[in-house]
Amino acid sequence: MKFKLNFDDTAQNRLIIAGLLVSTVLIIAVSIFAIGKIQEKLYESYANFGQLLGKTIAIQSYELTKDKTEAQKKNILKTHAVSILQSNSDISFITFKDTKGNIITSTTETYKDRAEGTKTNLSAPISNKKGEITGTVEIGLNASMASAIAKTTKNSMFIVFTLVWAVFTIVILINTFLITRELSILHQGVKAISGGKFGTLLEHKDASGEIKELFAAFNDMSSRLHVYEEQNIEELTLERNKFESVLMNIANGVVVCDSEDNAVLVNPIAEHILSVKSTDIIDTSFANYVDVEGRACFKDEIETFKKTPLEIIEKKPLEFHVDVNQRVIKSVISPMFSKAHDYLGYIIVLIDMTKEAEVDKLKSDFISNVSHELRTPVTILRSYIDTLYNFGAEFKFEEQTEFIGVINQEIIRLNNMVNDILDFSKLESNTRYEKVEGDIMQTLEATLGNLKVLAEEKGVNFKVEKEDEIPMLPYNEESIGRVISNLVTNAIKYAPNNSTIDIKAGLSAKMADSVEITVSDKGIGISKEHQAKIFDRFYRVENDTHTIKGTGLGLHLVKVTVEKHHNGKVFVESEPNNGSTFGFCLPIHPINTEELENTAQETV
Ligand code: ADP
Repeated sequence: MKFKLNFDDTAQNRLIIAGLLVSTVLIIAVSIFAIGKIQEKLYESYANFGQLLGKTIAIQSYELTKDKTEAQKKNILKTHAVSILQSNSDISFITFKDTKGNIITSTTETYKDRAEGTKTNLSAPISNKKGEITGTVEIGLNASMASAIAKTTKNSMFIVFTLVWAVFTIVILINTFLITRELSILHQGVKAISGGKFGTLLEHKDASGEIKELFAAFNDMSSRLHVYEEQNIEELTLERNKFESVLMNIANGVVVCDSEDNAVLVNPIAEHILSVKSTDIIDTSFANYVDVEGRACFKDEIETFKKTPLEIIEKKPLEFHVDVNQRVIKSVISPMFSKAHDYLGYIIVLIDMTKEAEVDKLKSDFISNVSHELRTPVTILRSYIDTLYNFGAEFKFEEQTEFIGVINQEIIRLNNMVNDILDFSKLESNTRYEKVEGDIMQTLEATLGNLKVLAEEKGVNFKVEKEDEIPMLPYNEESIGRVISNLVTNAIKYAPNNSTIDIKAGLSAKMADSVEITVSDKGIGISKEHQAKIFDRFYRVENDTHTIKGTGLGLHLVKVTVEKHHNGKVFVESEPNNGSTFGFCLPIHPINTEELENTAQETV
């Protein structure tokens, strides 16, 4: 941007005019003084000239009249006086007197007008050779020549001083105008820079010398500032973009509000938690936000935040849990400050704790379930063992065998439960399972064998179908045995009495190069909503609807064992009241352990 400015009326200009006036007065005073002095000298010289003239006339008159009669003397002196007056206009009269002071002759009558214009009178004695005074000559001077000289001197001086003054004034004005104009341009340029208009350039083609250098230095500085500013803006934009992308991609919801409570930034997670579009709440008061149930979830807490002194809230941000759109949200409100520590507003971080709240509830349910589940078999065991111990002899052999069968069942159940709990901690602690190439059909048969008694209690049959030739595959026999056991135990638990449980083994259509085992019952089935969660740890449908007890660990262990430790896949297909099919796939080919572990980290 080029910058050209005009000279305008300022206090500085008024000062220059005042300076000029003072200098004018001074020059006039000096010229008056100088003229006065010159005139004084002039009149002094004129007086001297008069004295000299008087003496000269006195000498001449003595020389002309010596040895002459009184009558001749008078005529000679008269003629002489008239001839002097005619040749010298400065002399207004000449009067000759004798020693007694009587007028011998005078021009005052003949040249009356001239005599009246007399300005100076002077007299000179007339003396003979012996030095005796024979009379006096009086001369009148009209100072016309002196006046003319004085006038001319005065006029010349006046013209000279006026010219000097005019030249001086013009020089001063031009100089001042030029300097002031350049200073004014410079001043406007500095004002533009201080107003943030970096890059402002001053035109300096008319300037010269130091001013030119000053302008060049100014333009250089302005250009540099412009470059710095652009770099700064780039950096600031970069920082802002970084900051925004962090906020936009952060895993928690973030709402930034200004000091007036208006939302200025809402990231996508916050949009999701609050079920709003950011454009709908930006520039509106966040305290007035209402969720889908019409509750102003943050109003009270924002009020509390605003009532708390900043120095306290700065050190300990306000934390609270709030239900928003049927989710449990942990919210943290922290104040924002500028570099100069001015309050700018606040940031609300929204952390979705719904899952954690659910897990907390599941954990407490788990503890109550486990204690209940442990108490039941232990009570049964105690009463049966007690009976056998104290009254065993009173029972027949078949009855004793039946008692021992029940004891055996309860111990299996207890064992399963304890195993579940042990497995859970083992699986959670990332213990590696050793996998050995083996025949999964054998593991299946053996597990079913162990569960036969449990099934018979309910009159449930197993129908095992081997759909394909099952290849050998690497797996951990003990843990996969427990996977099968968990699925079959659940099937027995939820199947109707005297029904059949179908167990199928074959090559999987769901997962390439893998073996699939499914367990289907004709039981109560599971709704879609629950299907999504039954593999989560501690999750139990019974806590909501069913009455059958359990720990909520079984299916979680199945999933972790198959997916995390064998890189396989578990699935469920079910409809309420229409039975359920649980299944899992195991890869046939050994898998690189490292790869398996990496995948496992992601699965859990
Ligand atoms: P639990 O030890 O409580 O049975 P699981 O993890 O094995 O825990 O099962 C989780 C939930 O899945 C159970 O509470 C149950 O409601 C449901 N479930 C599991 N298997 C079946 C099935 N075959 N039929 C119906 N519901 C089942």
